[in-house]
Amino acid sequence: MSGFNYEKDADGIVTVTMDMAGPVNSMSEEFLPLLEDTAGKLEAEEGLTGVVLTSAKKTFFAGGDLNMLCQVTPDTAEQFFQGVEATKAVMRRLEKLPVPVAAAINGAALGGGLELALACNHRVVWNDRSVQLGFPEVTLGLLPGGGGVVKAIYLMGLMASNEYLLEGKRVAPAKALESGLIDATVDTLEELVPAAKSWIMANREDEAAMTQPWDTKGYKIPGGNANTPAVAQMLPAAAAMLQQKTRGLLPAPAKILDIAVAAMRVDFETAMRIESRGLTYLALTPQAKNMINTFFFQMNQINGGASRPADVEPQKTRKVGVLGAGMMGQGIAYVSAMAGIEVILKDISQEAAEKGKAYTEKLVAKRVQRGRMTEEKAQAVLGLITPTASSEDLQGCDLIIEAVFENIKLKHQITEEMEGYLAEGGVWGSNTSTLPITRLAEASRDASNFIGIHFFSPVDKMPLVEIIMGENTGDVALAKAFDYALQIKKTPIVVNDSLGFFTSRTFGTFLDEGVRLLSEGMHPVKIDNLGKAIGMPVGPLQVYDEVSLELSRKAQETWEEMGIDTSGRDNAAVSSVVSTMIGEHGRGGRYHGGGFYEYGEDGSRKIWPPLLDIYYQPEVNIPDQDAKDRMLFRQVIEALRCLEEGVLRTVADGNIGSIMGIGAPVWTGGLIQFVNTYGLERFIARCDELAEAYGERFKAPANVGAKLAEGALFT
Ligand code: NAD
Repeated sequence: MSGFNYEKDADGIVTVTMDMAGPVNSMSEEFLPLLEDTAGKLEAEEGLTGVVLTSAKKTFFAGGDLNMLCQVTPDTAEQFFQGVEATKAVMRRLEKLPVPVAAAINGAALGGGLELALACNHRVVWNDRSVQLGFPEVTLGLLPGGGGVVKAIYLMGLMASNEYLLEGKRVAPAKALESGLIDATVDTLEELVPAAKSWIMANREDEAAMTQPWDTKGYKIPGGNANTPAVAQMLPAAAAMLQQKTRGLLPAPAKILDIAVAAMRVDFETAMRIESRGLTYLALTPQAKNMINTFFFQMNQINGGASRPADVEPQKTRKVGVLGAGMMGQGIAYVSAMAGIEVILKDISQEAAEKGKAYTEKLVAKRVQRGRMTEEKAQAVLGLITPTASSEDLQGCDLIIEAVFENIKLKHQITEEMEGYLAEGGVWGSNTSTLPITRLAEASRDASNFIGIHFFSPVDKMPLVEIIMGENTGDVALAKAFDYALQIKKTPIVVNDSLGFFTSRTFGTFLDEGVRLLSEGMHPVKIDNLGKAIGMPVGPLQVYDEVSLELSRKAQETWEEMGIDTSGRDNAAVSSVVSTMIGEHGRGGRYHGGGFYEYGEDGSRKIWPPLLDIYYQPEVNIPDQDAKDRMLFRQVIEALRCLEEGVLRTVADGNIGSIMGIGAPVWTGGLIQFVNTYGLERFIARCDELAEAYGERFKAPANVGAKLAEGALFT
């Protein structure tokens, strides 16, 4: 039967084993009555020696109910606040039991799960890879409101709590032990409950052991409270640093810091109430709604295979051929071998192929050095990669990914020459960044097995893979690419063929708008600062320098050579700036000796002085808000167009793809989700204003009006 199982042993210790309905224990509607009932039974229990709280699931406890959190509105906020307070009140009853209470943590205890464990006097944890502890709430725009912020401060102090509360770091048991979040670890699951029980038996007479630190007279917060000079001095700097890091775009970290400081100033009960108010406040913010929608629900949808054809059986990749051992190929070889896949890494010479493998040698050596990998495992990973210059070695690959130079003739030729080495039913993937998949597939003898598998650089760090369907790509190829992406621990999005696919096409509009602002006379430094102020990691001109102006000119030339119509791109302003910069001044970007910026040997960067003479017009006054909206709205509009044209097949792909692939601001929850909380009507009105002032490119796509008429959102 589901619920909380209650069992008393001969020593008088009650073990409460949480086994709620569904796959995990969580703070669902069922939770509060269960915990209340259990607290009541424990309070009335005669001859009670102690309590062990554990779980029958694989995880200990999964935390809050995000569905419920998403639905909080100003009208229901007070009720929500009371609910949080009620949960805390029951956890408080556990803390006040006159016996020692131990949590026996057998699996992940994140967020609410860890808060439940903190309501116990002692935490013993199974030291296993599957067990993670932490407060991920901040990554969803929230805070741990079940006592997490306040108790983390009491247990670890302000400094050590930072990474848990403000960064949402999840840690292994050993690190949690070191931080003081837990008290003990055991090596096997069998030892867990017995260890909790022996702690109880050893401490059953000890008043201090059954009293929480926050209830202990004279208890001192590690590092001191808010009046301690060292802490008091640090606070203004901490707030300023946080503001700089979040650029004022994320309310959760600021709120958490406020509550952390309050916890060091006011009494425990008051701090707990302030924390509940803080969570209620955050639950109402658009940022939290955006982040929960995308990072939790849509991410689960994607990783659960929503974009994958359901009727194709799992397509495991066993042997992958990687053609081209350059910057991308070497990264693809590394992530594949790390996932246990055999890799044939081919380049034009043995030497070039070996050089590509050396990349993996370097990365695994670093892991070994940092204690994150055994020497044995490193050798096993290296043993999976065969560098070669010989095509015959590709024989039997069930997947070949081509990452040779961006040249359609070369890519066609390679497809013709090497496709024959694929195993029966094998799939051919191209890592092209600009060439249409349908055109590349023309060289294939079976275009249904030809697909785009677009990685991002650096491959080992970037979490996204953009899978591109050519016109004739079939479902098996899609399933193969999708399953391979999950196998190498990347998040796959699936899009239809289009110039620049989804990611580059959308990102291109951000660069385009930045360059337009330059050509209209705005100061280049201001443009880049305003780009960052909307939450983009880097300003548009600096990005342009990094990806190189030269490359964008080349892409444009290639498309023209191929007879591809690019008139829809409306990029005359950019073409003019690019041709002036390259044609007249030889400024092709950072790797071509400099672009909009000059780069010093010491890594310094400053505006290339003639840029101001050419473009800057001090009398031009574009309002900052307009410039910011222009850089954001262009991307949003392009993403909406991709949805309208069917380049994007789902809203989730657009949101996740924009954040993970092109660094769209996290507070938006992705470029399409942005519209939902900005308000569809308001969005259309703002687009109209921008279109009036700056051009038709800002007109809202028709799908926004259609959604508005339906009274629906983009989901
Ligand atoms: P690169 O120049 O670093 O590497 C290309 C490699 O291909 C070279 O080592 C070259 O020797 C090899 N090569 C050329 N002809 C070959 C042949 N006939 N057989 C085997 N190997 C051959 O280029 P890169 O940056 O790794 O880009 C490769 C592909 O990935 C391109 O299509 C590019 O558009 C795409 N891509 C690049 C990025 C990026 O950020 N660099 C991102 C996504 C996709």
